[in-house]
Amino acid sequence: MTDKTSDYKIATLGSHSALQILKGARDEGFKTMIIALKGRTQPYESFKVADEIIELESFKDLPGLEQRLIDENVILVPHGSFFSAYTDLEALNQSDALYFGNKKILPWEQSRTKQREWLKKAGLTLPKIYDKPEDIDGPCIIKFYGAGGGKGYFLAKTAEEFYEKIKPHKDKRYIIQQYIVGAPLYVHYFYSPLTGELEVMSMDKRYETNVDSIGRISAKDQLDLNIESSYNIMGNLPVVVRESMLPQIFSMGEEVVKVSKKLEPGGLTGPFCLETIVTPELEFYVFEISARIVAGTNPYINGSPYTDLRYKEPMSTGRRVAREIKLALESDEIEKVLINGN
Ligand code: AMP
Ligand code: AMP
Repeated sequence: MTDKTSDYKIATLGSHSALQILKGARDEGFKTMIIALKGRTQPYESFKVADEIIELESFKDLPGLEQRLIDENVILVPHGSFFSAYTDLEALNQSDALYFGNKKILPWEQSRTKQREWLKKAGLTLPKIYDKPEDIDGPCIIKFYGAGGGKGYFLAKTAEEFYEKIKPHKDKRYIIQQYIVGAPLYVHYFYSPLTGELEVMSMDKRYETNVDSIGRISAKDQLDLNIESSYNIMGNLPVVVRESMLPQIFSMGEEVVKVSKKLEPGGLTGPFCLETIVTPELEFYVFEISARIVAGTNPYINGSPYTDLRYKEPMSTGRRVAREIKLALESDEIEKVLINGN
């Protein structure tokens, strides 16, 4: 078997899960490249994961880099910062640079309405959505559009409270979602179109400020200080679930993959994440899907308890992506893992 990895480079944008992606690519024998903003390259220099560092003044300059990426056989691995870096999906779709995953699935992730259609078709339980504030009849969470990392979300339980709290957020698009009381659990999956197999890679819970630290302040002080909860993500914590929950976790992932193939040719390819709240009855409410690597995989650069069971070497999700590319190159099936939108 010829070694085709040396013909390709793996690159990503400098943020989010780039360290993991590049380390994984290198472990699989690829050359690596980071595209980072000026002044934000130090982690990639210090942690020594990038063979090449490209500095940009602004991610608006990405199109200027395109020909070089094409000429040098660079495969871009997308993560959460791609959607803010590329001004819109259209810009990402128009790029001819090699791209890991299935671009056709992106619109299904980007639109909250389409996401719900997808998840419902997969038979999952979703929190209720209120069409208008007047319909609010219980605790709900108000979320803004775009990957803002939970910034500005707020809770309300009446229309009145909603109108009061929405005031500072003029002109922002939002949804009103039923608030589920339970434990957040983010499940990281990997689906291989080469083997047709679904893997559970790892799980996390987010570390959000200030909801995850508000318990350090007594209820009385919270009221006296007039503290509002906020959900801005600042990190991630590893989670391992009760083993008896695993069969359901696998079947939820499998249904999501099955439906994705009906939505778009090729379906979901590679890493994805189901974002859930688990109730005291151990029922899963799925409130979102991310159709790519999530930053919650970052605690597992050296593998997770789950990947440790299956692999003989440390297997992060970033490395699993590079492994998939390598296997696809070796079996001449690269078109199964690099699917363009057009
Ligand atoms: P950043 O490049 O850190 O601004 O991240 C881009 C987007 O990815 C953010 O707006 C978040 O929605 C998401 N994100 C970044 N870091 C994390 C994390 N550690 N866990 C979950 N989501 C994250
Ligand atoms: P998101 O940006 O949609 O991933 O949500 C950010 C955080 O808000 C999650 O980590 C949860 O802590 C919380 N959250 C989101 N949706 C719900 C919900 N429907 N019920 C309860 N908590 C939620």
